[in-house]
Amino acid sequence: MIAEQSLGGQRQALMEGVDLLVGAGVMSHTGHINASVRVDSDRMLLTPTGLAGELRAETLAVVRHDGHVEDGRISASTSEIIGMHTAVYLAREDVAAVVHTHSPHLTAFALAHRPLPCRYEALLRHGQTEAVPIVPWAPRGSEASTRGIGEALARHPGSRAVLLANHGVLVGGPAATTAAKLLVVLEEAAAAELRAVALGGARDLPAAAEQDVQQSMHRAAGAQAG
Ligand SMILES: [Zn+2]
Repeated sequence: MIAEQSLGGQRQALMEGVDLLVGAGVMSHTGHINASVRVDSDRMLLTPTGLAGELRAETLAVVRHDGHVEDGRISASTSEIIGMHTAVYLAREDVAAVVHTHSPHLTAFALAHRPLPCRYEALLRHGQTEAVPIVPWAPRGSEASTRGIGEALARHPGSRAVLLANHGVLVGGPAATTAAKLLVVLEEAAAAELRAVALGGARDLPAAAEQDVQQSMHRAAGAQAG
């Protein structure tokens, strides 16, 4: 059995991630979202329906990686996306939360099958150090889709996210709020990339940018600690 106390904390953490995304205004018009946090090596806490406005901490479901629902009830469409979340947990041991939305600017890149370049400084600060790759289209949760997610994450260790072709975005992180914050910054980056086209196109960061940003953050954290 899972300790109910720690599960209660995880329920709150998952809802904080969802609330952060809704508050940031990065949702599509439908408010479509699914999000999960890792409970242990074979289980996740998962949003039971795909609409942000319907989600409550107490109705989040405990679901095994093979799709078996241990606690709570999930909608039929939610049962289709379990494999999408499992694929990220299996690909990345350090990932403890996964969020998926149809955020408009990121979804534009997904529709165009264009990887989102990594040239917005804020991405580096949130652990994204390379372009967000495209996973070839396949029906959500299908074997081909989950395999594609795993392969894309393995090929791109500097990306914590993938764009699902003709669908949306999938982001992993060490916590629900961390994954949600990265998704917000990715949506900002996608919007800025599209606006920059009117100005001749976005330019790449210098090669040393990642190292420079890390050093700057390290120095600032050290100064605060001191
Ligand atoms: Zn979706």
